[in-house]
Formats: sequence, structure tokens, C-alpha cells
Amino acid sequence: MTDIVWFKRDLRVHDHEPLFRASKLNKIIPLYIIETDLWQQPDLSDRHYEFLIDSLRDLNFSLKNLGQELIIRVGNAEQVFSNLIKEHAVENIWSHEETWNNWTYQRDLKLKRLFTSKNIKWHEIHVNGVFRGLNDRKLWTSMFYQEMEKIPYEKPDKLNSIDILSETLPSADDLGIKSIECPYRQRGGEREAQNVLNSFLKLRSLDYSKNISSPTHSHETCSRLSTYLAFGNISLKQIFYYTKTAINAFKDGEDYANNMNLRSINAFKNRLRWRSHFIQKLEDQPNIESQNLHDAYNDIRDGYFNEDLYHAWQEGQTGFPLIDACMRSLINTGWINFRMRAMLVSFASNNLWMDWRKFAHHLSNIFTDYEPGIHYSQIQMQSGTTGINTIRIYNPIKQSYDQDKDGIFIKKWVRELQNCPVEYIHEPWKIIEGMYNYPAPIIDEGETRKKAAAVLYSIKSKIRNSETTKKILKKHVS
Ligand SMILES: Cc1cc2nc3c(=O)[nH]c(=O)nc-3n(C[C@H](O)[C@H](O)[C@H](O)COP(=O)(O)OP(=O)(O)OC[C@H]3O[C@@H](n4cnc5c(N)ncnc54)[C@H](O)[C@@H]3O)c2cc1C
Repeated sequence: MTDIVWFKRDLRVHDHEPLFRASKLNKIIPLYIIETDLWQQPDLSDRHYEFLIDSLRDLNFSLKNLGQELIIRVGNAEQVFSNLIKEHAVENIWSHEETWNNWTYQRDLKLKRLFTSKNIKWHEIHVNGVFRGLNDRKLWTSMFYQEMEKIPYEKPDKLNSIDILSETLPSADDLGIKSIECPYRQRGGEREAQNVLNSFLKLRSLDYSKNISSPTHSHETCSRLSTYLAFGNISLKQIFYYTKTAINAFKDGEDYANNMNLRSINAFKNRLRWRSHFIQKLEDQPNIESQNLHDAYNDIRDGYFNEDLYHAWQEGQTGFPLIDACMRSLINTGWINFRMRAMLVSFASNNLWMDWRKFAHHLSNIFTDYEPGIHYSQIQMQSGTTGINTIRIYNPIKQSYDQDKDGIFIKKWVRELQNCPVEYIHEPWKIIEGMYNYPAPIIDEGETRKKAAAVLYSIKSKIRNSETTKKILKKHVS
């Protein structure tokens, strides 16, 4: 008999429960399906595909060393599984549970029907502290920590080889995937993930908390694990385990570059929990990808979309130096820190008064670490449409003075402002509007912020004790 281990967003051999368990039973086909329709979805772009290819190559290397290389299939998952089931005596399918976009959710429903009709058992194993079928969040935090305290699975000792050929990996071009060039993208793969975690724990975490919102320094001092987590090059449990090991080693007097900032490490660990907290929201309520969490905000931005303003924001041409620097940096590197992401969304939602559904895909396209559960929850939070979170409207001029005092980040990404004196770098229009071939501000920041605040606060005060608000709190707050 044969089992299939279906790799999805778990591209690693260590701490891979489905692979570990399946390897003890039958011969296995370690399968990855390049799903051609998935790659046409509007939330994805070629930077995700390129990171995937790095990850698959690394996974193939590790699997080959275990005795059976990765089997690639290109096409439609139902068709791929139907063919494999015809050609091999398949007894079980093993995979992790996936909480991803609506497309993958619908695909999994179809596959469930297929496997049931063929009497094949699909072992879907929960992962990363996200649990299926929760009615509320009462026990979630303790369930999460219970899981994170477990010891990660070792890689399997060996895989029995099977007589089956793999297909070649198509390029992003072959698949017609939306292309947005990203010259400084992170490289994918399980071994890369381990290196990034090690360098963070050993060296880079010292100033994690201090620099967390600095657009210049956070590239180095944040963990930069988000993309590895999004593709499952490393599991959350592994990160908890290695972090704990590092703390113990440090407490026992091991070097750790002579220092370890335990406050920073604790702040980092809290964020790892937030990750699962947000993905759990999407698991419990898949429609937050397309609908406001609170319906009181349903039509407040209807009819306000302005194509020119949108393009100025999307291309980093708003005339607000920090906004433009962040957008251009994000396009070129695929990453920016939390505060700068929040500010970009706040500007689009509040200053430009755009419905988040109009711009969420531009951001998902350029975040290499795109993770729907975090992405849509955060975009809704920063747009003020959840009804349960504090309303935050970032002032991009204040952020510019606070986070990039000397304009180093701005000058790096907004080359037009290279020669602008530092005292004007945050508000270059104060010299002469249009100087340096840089656009004048596309909106009045103060006026638009006040208007947005008036609408959002007035709704918030009306719905504070409403039944809908109470239901949302019960469902999503632990
Ligand atoms: C509008 C918006 C969209 C976002 N979209 C994504 C996304 O698609 N994918 C994504 O991984 N993060 C997203 N984030 C959260 C956060 O910005 C990134 O996780 C973080 O910048 C990643 O860098 P890092 O790995 O160095 O994070 P660190 O600061 O080193 O944190 C470690 C890990 O904790 C998790 N984490 C950190 N901050 C948050 C947070 N606020 N919410 C949830 N989890 C968090 C991430 O998995 C991260 O890798 C978004 C934030 C905003 C405001």
C-alpha cells in the first residue's frame, strides 16, 4: 500500500508530523502540487512563487537524502489526486490543516468529497496553534501554549523509495503569474529559515524592541521569520523550542555574543502568539477575507474610490516622503515592519478614504510573507472596520519625524529627495512645492484625518454595546 504526504504550507522535513507518522507506515509519495488556478488568484504574485521554488528545491534536497525525492505535479489538485489514486494503491493522505484563502478552503472541501468517495482516509493534522471547530476563545490561549511546549518532531530516519517520476517545476512566466519585480527578496528554504532564526537569537535580537518600528534598522533587528513561517519552512513550535533552548543556554552562561535581551525575546514570543491568534480568526470566520468584521461599517466608504489617488499610493508617489519610501522599499524588498504597514493601510483607508477591499490585494502581492489570516485581520483593524479594536489613524508626518528622524530611510528610497536638507525631508513642500521633481502632497493630511476620525468614532460609540459587537468579542477575543 502507498500513502501520500501532501506538502502545502509546511515545506520542511523537521517537525512535520504528517511526514513523520506516515514514514512509519507504508511507502510514501511526498507530493507537492503546483496548482495552476491558485497562481491566478489576485492575492498572489511572482515573489511568492519564487520563494516557493526556493523552498521546494531545499525540501527536495532533504527528502532525497532521506531516500525519496519530492514528487511534483502541475495542474488541478482533484485531477492530480484522482490520477495518483488510479495508478497507486493509495490508503491514506496525510497533510497539515490549512487555514489560507477562500480558494484553498473551497478546494479542500472538494478534495474531502473525493477522498470520501474513494474510501481514502485524509489525516489532516492541526499546526501552529490554530484549531478547527472552536466555538469561542475561552480555552484558546492555554491550548496554544500547551502545543508550543511540545518537543518538535525529528525528521524521519528514512523514506522507502517508490517508482514514480516527478514533473519539472514551471517558471512563474510559464504559469502567467502576476509579476512585480522584487530584487531584494528573501531566499526561501528550511535551511535558510534555521540560519535566520539562529542569527536572530544569537545576535540580531538585542535591539529588537528598541528598533521595532524603525524602517531603517528593523530590517536587521526584527526576526524576519514571517516568510519562513508563511511557507512553513519552520514551524512555530520549533521557534518556541529553539528560543527556549537559547534562553537556557544564555542563563547557563553560554556566550550569546555576551548578551541576550530577555525583554526583547519575550516581546518576540508574544508576537508569535499573535500570529496564531489572527490566523485563528480566519479559521473561525473565513469571510473576513471579503467582508467587514462588523457590518456597521459596510457602506461608509462606498463611492469614494479615486483611481488617481490609488495609483499614487500604490506607486509611492503621494508626496508624503515616509509613505512613498515605505511603499517603494516594500515593492523592492517584499518586507516592511509592522508600524509602517499599519501606516500605509491607515493612509489608504483614512486619508484617501478607500474601502480596504480595493487595495488589500496590492499589499498581499508585495508582502512576500502574505498570510491571509494576519493580512485581512490587520487590514480591517487599521481600517477601523472590526468594531472591537482601538481606532488608530497614523499621522504620516509625525511618524516620519519619529521613526526616520534624519531622513536616512527616505533618502534611500525616494531618490528625488537626495539633496533635500534634513530639516525639510519630512515636509519637502515647505521649501517650494514640486521642488526636486517630487510630487506635492495628494491630499490635506490634517483635514482628511479629522474627517475619518469623526466617522469612525461616531459609529464606534453607537455600536459599543450592540449584540453584534458582543458576538464578535465572544468569537474572536481570548
Ligand atoms: C496591514 C498589515 C498586514 C500584515 N500582513 C501580514 C502578513 O501577511 N503576514 C505576516 O506574517 N504578518 C503580517 N503583518 C504583521 C507584521 O507586520 C509582520 O508579521 C512582521 O512585520 C513580520 O516581520 P518579522 O518576521 O521580522 O516579525 P517579528 O517582529 O520578528 O515577529 C515574529 C513573528 O511574529 C508574528 N507577528 C509579528 N507581528 C505580528 C502582528 N502584529 N500580528 C500577527 N503576527 C505578528 C509574525 O509571524 C512574525 O514573523 C501585517 C501587519 C499589518 C499592519
